[in-house]
Amino acid sequence: MERQRKIALLGATGSIGRQTLDVVRKQPGLSIVSMAAGRNISLLEEAAREFHPKVVAVYDEAEAKRLKERLNDTDVSVVSGMDGLVEAACVAEADVTLGAVVGMIGIRPTVEAIKAGKDIAIANKETLVTAGHLILPLVKEKKVKLLPVDSEHSAIFQSLHGEEGNAVSRILLTASGGPFYGKTKADLQSVTVQDALKHPNWSMGRKITVDSATLVNKGLEVMEAYWLFSVPYDRIEVVIQPESVIHSMVEFEDGAVMAELGVPDMRTAIQYALTYPKREKLGVGRLDFDTLRSIRFGRPDTDAFPGLAYAYEAGRKGGNLPTVFNAANEYAVALFLDGRIRFTEIPELIRFAMDHVRFREAPSLDEVLETERETIEVLSCHRS
Ligand code: NDP
Ligand code: MG
Repeated sequence: MERQRKIALLGATGSIGRQTLDVVRKQPGLSIVSMAAGRNISLLEEAAREFHPKVVAVYDEAEAKRLKERLNDTDVSVVSGMDGLVEAACVAEADVTLGAVVGMIGIRPTVEAIKAGKDIAIANKETLVTAGHLILPLVKEKKVKLLPVDSEHSAIFQSLHGEEGNAVSRILLTASGGPFYGKTKADLQSVTVQDALKHPNWSMGRKITVDSATLVNKGLEVMEAYWLFSVPYDRIEVVIQPESVIHSMVEFEDGAVMAELGVPDMRTAIQYALTYPKREKLGVGRLDFDTLRSIRFGRPDTDAFPGLAYAYEAGRKGGNLPTVFNAANEYAVALFLDGRIRFTEIPELIRFAMDHVRFREAPSLDEVLETERETIEVLSCHRS
């Protein structure tokens, strides 16, 4: 890379965050100028000492205080709360803000970083799903880049390279099918948290791993693709590809299909978003076509995994419904991970929320956040 690219890294302690640090460690053209996380100050301290950021944000106030004491021999500024997250997202030195927090907590920092003129590398799909209608116009107005980190969207982005002016006939979003691919609705009644956390191909944070098992992740990704690539929902199709070798495909009007293939390793997509449009050497595994015996395909089963169908419904209807879908899922997944509901209750709670939370046509940022609160309220009343 010809010049330094300075990164504000939100969600530095998570699965994407740690893999980003690994990419930066190996890539001399990249550096970290700020980091943010929820409460894992041990990892933050370690990373701060290794990467020397200017600012570290800890959402939890008490943990932020502790980190401040631990780092008092350095000149790192430790900040806290939502204001701290926003400060880390917008730090003056940053060229690009990488959003890798989990959930809707990422909305405000992302919006503020765009307003501050930062390019955005986005892994945090919940932010695009719930606030895409506010973020996309802002990206245009501020003339910043919006670079996908999610592997499927990175594959689509790469497949669209050099195709400006050519109409897309279909986006083929691939899905592994998750650990329960092939199971029926009845089989799913008795699956456990441990079963759901065993993803066949990818190692990820707990929430997205459960989302992959319910196919809600694919539903969120359908909406994410809608915002990133401006393709209508009836041209976005989900294709099961159990080996996760084809990361997604684009079909053009002449029938040609472009795809990006590789081993399932998020560092490829993370690095591409950070070095775009350059490709830099990266020590990840390579596809071995001698041992790769087959690449299989299948169709998603929306009877066993209704969350995917609900996502299409939410996306098509728009307004605050994607927020209701997402907030209900965040709420339900937390309950499931806590052992308080069954796996099959996750889509049931999403359905209930979609049927009961007040619809709003074009929600402002405050109304998106208000919808999140309403959804949690509707679901906690329903459960008590
Ligand atoms: P993890 O659960 O591994 O990490 C989540 C990160 O968010 C942690 O750094 C966590 O900090 C931070 N965080 C949580 N709550 C807050 C908060 N209130 N304020 C600030 N930071 C907070 O998640 P993943 O890395 O797996 O996923 C991150 C995002 O990327 C998600 O939106 C996911 O859908 C998306 N994604 C992930 C992929 C993957 O391979 N993991 C692939 C594609 C997309 P702390 O550790 O301190 O709690
Ligand atoms: Mg993905």
